[in-house]
Amino acid sequence: MVTDKKREECCGCGACAAACPHGAIRMEADGLGFRYPLIDNDLCTRCGLCDEICAFRPVERTSEPKAEAVRFPEHLPASQSGGAGYALMRQAIGEGRIVYGAAMTDGFRVRHLRAETLEELEPMRLTKYVQSDMDGIPEQVLQDLKEGRKVLFTGTPCQCAGIGSLCSQYSDRLLLVDIVCHGVPSPEVWKGFLSWNEARQGSRIRKAVFRDPSIGWHEARTLLVFDSGERIHTDGFYYIYMKELMSRPSCGGCPFACTRRPSDITIGDSWGIEKAVPGFADDNRGCSLVLLNTPQGREYFDSVSDACARQEVDLNGFLQLNLVSPSKPSRRAKRFEKDFIRKGFPYVQARYGYGSPAHRLEEYRKKIKRHLHI
Ligand SMILES: Cc1cc2nc3c(=O)[nH]c(=O)nc-3n(C[C@H](O)[C@H](O)[C@H](O)COP(=O)(O)OP(=O)(O)OC[C@H]3O[C@@H](n4cnc5c(N)ncnc54)[C@H](O)[C@@H]3O)c2cc1C
Repeated sequence: MVTDKKREECCGCGACAAACPHGAIRMEADGLGFRYPLIDNDLCTRCGLCDEICAFRPVERTSEPKAEAVRFPEHLPASQSGGAGYALMRQAIGEGRIVYGAAMTDGFRVRHLRAETLEELEPMRLTKYVQSDMDGIPEQVLQDLKEGRKVLFTGTPCQCAGIGSLCSQYSDRLLLVDIVCHGVPSPEVWKGFLSWNEARQGSRIRKAVFRDPSIGWHEARTLLVFDSGERIHTDGFYYIYMKELMSRPSCGGCPFACTRRPSDITIGDSWGIEKAVPGFADDNRGCSLVLLNTPQGREYFDSVSDACARQEVDLNGFLQLNLVSPSKPSRRAKRFEKDFIRKGFPYVQARYGYGSPAHRLEEYRKKIKRHLHI
């Protein structure tokens, strides 16, 4: 049964709960806000369907994807990378497909939403470095497909794998677009980070952008705008993320951190494009890496009508960390989790965060190394 799995073996996509014909599974969040299946033993018949549906395992695909560097100039200002994600979603809306994507909603909560209009796509743009809440989404996708609608689902590879498995009988009407993923951070730590900043500024946050594209594609700073009118760019959240302290435990063993993807199309950043294809994207405004994984994905991408610059590239030259292996959790991740749950964000910020003694020591070591040229 899915509840026999260890935390490291569950990505929280919710496909098992949606598949259960007895309604015996509900998803419940832990102290970091990551959702796990809970089985009601009175309703469960031990039919095993939940285990069959679970798709958190390597993809069996032999052909290598076709890789392209792509930019949609019009979408760059409001997209995270080259705007491929938004262009694909726009195309889908234009064709009458229903789109599902991760959106920033009330109270800066990140959750998957359903869109049928261009207006409804807006909150799905830009990267949100938090695991999005999929509550009720697998059920809705399945229902749309059963009713004969075409669907484009965008999400992390594990979310795409779950949706693909749950909806396998409707694969001709379902297009899956996943992101290259470093790991999904904790929704509760994000909440704590926002409250901590509000307390420091003595003002409510009006706008939060995980990674502000207006300061450049290579920058990774969070923009916070307060009711007081104050605007700050902070490294705080991204720093803890990059220290591998707060990603979902299953991210450390992600079976999709490779080029065999559970989707038709994969989108990410084409890091290194400036050297690989000089002149293609030298302006620090973003460039997507697009992997066309299936014939359906290739055909769909060719049909996108928004103006773009495309360049086929050798995937071997663009194999960033998470296209080769999962991000390794820090040895301090378990301690961090305990500290966060018991003592809250201000404590973990002071102990592990940007500006903490550990961070200052690290900076000092870097400075010495630079000084000694080692
Ligand atoms: C947690 C996370 C880790 C990432 N790690 C990497 C990485 O290591 N290397 C890399 O190259 N790219 C990574 N990306 C992807 C990259 O940052 C861009 O989101 C991606 O290239 C899309 O940019 P775009 O301009 O094409 O799309 P945009 O037009 O900006 O649209 C954003 C798209 O991303 C989806 N999305 C945003 N946030 C989430 C989320 N939390 N969960 C699921 N889907 C989401 C939306 O549904 C939408 O389709 C990561 C994204 C996330 C969310």
